[in-house]
Amino acid sequence: MRLCRFGNNRLGVVDGGGIRDVTSVLDLLPSCRYPLPSYDLLIANLASICRAISSSPDDGQRLSIESVNLLSPVANPGKLIAAPVNYRAHLEEAIADEATFSRAHVQEIQKTGLFLKATSALIGASGPITITHSQRRTDHEIELAVIIGKEGRCISQSNAFNYVAGYSIGLDITIRGPEERSLRKSPDSYAVLGPWLVTSDEFGDLTGRDMVLTVGEQMRQRANTRDLIMSVPALIEFASSFYTLYPGDVLYTGTPEGVGPVHAGDTLRAEIAGIGSFAIEVVNTEAH
Ligand code: MN
Repeated sequence: MRLCRFGNNRLGVVDGGGIRDVTSVLDLLPSCRYPLPSYDLLIANLASICRAISSSPDDGQRLSIESVNLLSPVANPGKLIAAPVNYRAHLEEAIADEATFSRAHVQEIQKTGLFLKATSALIGASGPITITHSQRRTDHEIELAVIIGKEGRCISQSNAFNYVAGYSIGLDITIRGPEERSLRKSPDSYAVLGPWLVTSDEFGDLTGRDMVLTVGEQMRQRANTRDLIMSVPALIEFASSFYTLYPGDVLYTGTPEGVGPVHAGDTLRAEIAGIGSFAIEVVNTEAH
């Protein structure tokens, strides 16, 4: 199943005809009082929500994908976990580019570990990406994003896929420079997630998935998930050995080679096989 959030916090199922509005199933979610849970309520109840959608009558009405404002498919992730340099060719590219990369930060992922992006950076596929500090170089990074489905700590690789709710396309927008990654990668709108969540049963085997990112007419990043240095189960084992994973936590699995600058006025198009694609505009904060 492909689940999207759109418009005024509506829930949709994406099929060949467009988006079927299934917002009414959200009434099944438990009501919460303060303090609200620090995980995503929809993802925590995803199995029952999907069952309710499957058994609800379909009136055949569809919205066109182009007509709606796509929100992040996860509304309230507890954390955005991200893997640095997790493709071999991107590691070599990063080491070679002394002008824009801090050598101290560019090592194999097993040495660097993971980092967190601020949840306030999260936006959906309709964007826009709003550039801040426009005098600095800001790069695009397309990544397979894994959405955690249930709580777990010290999860073994062999058990890791039981903790995956689904997949989306992630853009880890990054200001280049010497500061900590958590600062440079966390401005508002610098964590894009979308266009929807593909449940893990529908997505199937994640190896061998092509991903492409273009800026305008220019192809910038073209890679395949088979070239990940640390696999998704290995990332889940690694991450959960440090902190508990919760439903709705998002794991950005790292970007392949071909990162490059983005500027206000650009349109980025991101595609991952088995998920879909979206185009997102880049604007300048000074213009707003
Ligand atoms: Mn990244």
